[in-house]
Amino acid sequence: MQDAPVKNFLQAIISDDLASGRVTAVQTRFPPEPNGYLHIGHAKSISVNFGLAEANGGKCNLRFDDTNPEKESQEYIESIQADVRWLGYQWAGEVRYASSYFQQLYDWAVYLIEQGKAYVCDLNAEQAREYRGTLTEAGRNSPFRERSIEENLDLFSRMKDGEFGEGEKVLRAKIDMASPNMNMRDPILYRIRKIAHHQTGTDWVIYPTYDYAHGQGDAIEGVTHSICTLEFEDHRPLYDWFIANLPVPAQPRQYEFGRLNPSYTITSKRKLKQLVDQDFVSGWDDPRMPTISGMRRRGYTPQALRKFCEMIGTTRSDGVVDVAMLEFAIREDLNNNAPRAMAVLNPLKVVLTDYPEGQVETLSASNHPSREDLGSRELPFTRELYIDAEDFREEANKKYKRLVLGKRVRLRNAYVIEADSVVKDAAGNITEIHAHTIPDTLGTDPADGVKPKGVIQWVSASHGVRAEVRVYDRLFNHEAPDRGDADFLSHLNPESLKVIADAVIEPSLAAAAPEQGFQFEREGYFVADRYDHSAQQPVFNMTIGLRDTWNEGA
Ligand code: ATP
Ligand code: MG
Repeated sequence: MQDAPVKNFLQAIISDDLASGRVTAVQTRFPPEPNGYLHIGHAKSISVNFGLAEANGGKCNLRFDDTNPEKESQEYIESIQADVRWLGYQWAGEVRYASSYFQQLYDWAVYLIEQGKAYVCDLNAEQAREYRGTLTEAGRNSPFRERSIEENLDLFSRMKDGEFGEGEKVLRAKIDMASPNMNMRDPILYRIRKIAHHQTGTDWVIYPTYDYAHGQGDAIEGVTHSICTLEFEDHRPLYDWFIANLPVPAQPRQYEFGRLNPSYTITSKRKLKQLVDQDFVSGWDDPRMPTISGMRRRGYTPQALRKFCEMIGTTRSDGVVDVAMLEFAIREDLNNNAPRAMAVLNPLKVVLTDYPEGQVETLSASNHPSREDLGSRELPFTRELYIDAEDFREEANKKYKRLVLGKRVRLRNAYVIEADSVVKDAAGNITEIHAHTIPDTLGTDPADGVKPKGVIQWVSASHGVRAEVRVYDRLFNHEAPDRGDADFLSHLNPESLKVIADAVIEPSLAAAAPEQGFQFEREGYFVADRYDHSAQQPVFNMTIGLRDTWNEGA
């Protein structure tokens, strides 16, 4: 018998740990700091943490890593929970907060002091930097390093009581100022921050650092595999030092994998916040943002995002992933699952001069070429229709497979028509096409053998509904918008949003529920806007085009 296939190095580690008995059940956690909205990189981390737990019959916690109250907020806490759920994951039990462990962390800090392994240091930030040394030069011991245990206990408790100002004192671990690993040079455990916390209010004026809080939170929660990204690799010895030197209830271990960096995309929360704060986008959930809520509003699906995260694998290297792979996953999912419908983005009127005024024929159209389960819908066919202005020319060569004067085209799901003449305004713009239908061509070719060359979409002029269509493109027009010296803002794509105010959509589309996605035939994939769409005033967002136009010809 063969073992289950090992999908990635993390699964291999977990399989070994289960086999050797180091762990009996897998417990992971996803630990966002609530200082922004989640983005595509977090989707990867979520899929790794929740995915590994699921695959191994284990559990995954959601823990807010809320040790830095200044930049955190309840709005972020709520958006993060909504995003994780939308991706289709459920955390084990209640939501956790690092801040729930503040008292335990404090008690353990006291324990370290009592063991002679932590001390209160009065060096200011600049002095501390100087004492710390460099990558090539050992640091020097702080003059406060040899304070007595009694003095340290007294000072630390007075730090907690608010006796000192911000920056006046910190609590540091006593490890090794000569360590080649800078993280081991007496790292800071506590800072004085006289600022209210969204969970603990004004209970605390000292806050633990990420390094001190994280592993102990893992131990408290019984996390077996604490999975993070590679930038924490050099912090692992410190993670292990705390676990080894504190009376923690469990022995978690940290493992690192490479961050996801898609091309044409920014995954820094700070820079994404800047785009929001400076109004370059409409908000964190602007459909152009690489945030989970932005992608959701854009019409990306949780299934496609999860598929993408699986597709790109999990490795120990930090590479750039072509954003076209993400777009491929979206297109594939929508191609398989999105119902088809017709919309005309740039309407031009066609009058079928042979078709009786006031007559309405109800045609039936299937919603998907290969998915019968998606059913069919009714299409009203009338004397006046709209087609896209791009789909008509007065004259054209043979390569043009749409409507031309004197030539035929098939109206999708309806009749073949032939164009006879045009009406123009004073400026010479075509305002109307006059055409006639070819009889008995519903689903069959014309009896006279003159076949139309192409098929175009249309919407009844009297039954169609006016709609706003927001056509989105990549937010950045540069492959690596935040690498190099240039300001990432200089790479914003000026064409990333075009609003079409007067598109016309078939009636069934107006009835769409917010967030319902469709393929507008021959145009691309679109989704009814989560917030702005209504049957009376339909608003659709372009999710993605039918083809990858960025890599065409490449
Ligand atoms: P910050 O700069 O605010 O720390 P962050 O992107 O690290 O930003 P966190 O909220 O700390 O944000 O991230 C939560 C988890 O998501 C962490 O485990 C982090 O390693 C992981 N993560 C963040 N960005 C990515 C990414 N681009 N690819 C994979 N995982 C990521
Ligand atoms: Mg982080």
